[in-house]
Amino acid sequence: MRDSDFQVNGTLIWYYYICKRQVWLMAHALVPDQDDENIRQGRDIQEFRYPRDQKEISLGHVKIDMMRSEKGQLVIGEIKKSSRFLTSATRQVQFYLWQFEQMGIEARAELFIPEERKRFEVTLDEEARQELHAAEKEITDIAHQPSPPPAEKINWCKSCAYAEFCWA
Ligand code: SF4
Repeated sequence: MRDSDFQVNGTLIWYYYICKRQVWLMAHALVPDQDDENIRQGRDIQEFRYPRDQKEISLGHVKIDMMRSEKGQLVIGEIKKSSRFLTSATRQVQFYLWQFEQMGIEARAELFIPEERKRFEVTLDEEARQELHAAEKEITDIAHQPSPPPAEKINWCKSCAYAEFCWA
């Protein structure tokens, strides 16, 4: 993989806190089964909830589920299916805030879990910046390895679209 081919994004941050093997598979564009039940449900949730907010927005390599302006302030939103991986989801949203900050854009962020009727405010502090800086470096190292880290059985494997690839 050439350096120019690779850029850490929010999706990789999300997977980094769940499964490092998945980071490698995503980074190498091994696309999971799009008919997988969990991927379909995720798409449906994003398409049919919060219709007044703008849907997926791209700013450079940053892709945001929702973006709106509230009292003159930019508000970005990320939608998740459940609160099962709240740390991972929080880091992903903090990564977006950090990317915006580096572009000189001030924003606040929210994490939505429509199925559970939950909404969390996400903020960025110095601890999060340092954590994300370290994560970004490790993700880059993982992506440049010649082969994926070995599969390790975790709870997420049951819902993972790569399960057949890892465990067939
Ligand atoms: S099936 Fe399990 S080990 Fe394989 S990528 Fe998914 S979470 Fe990781």
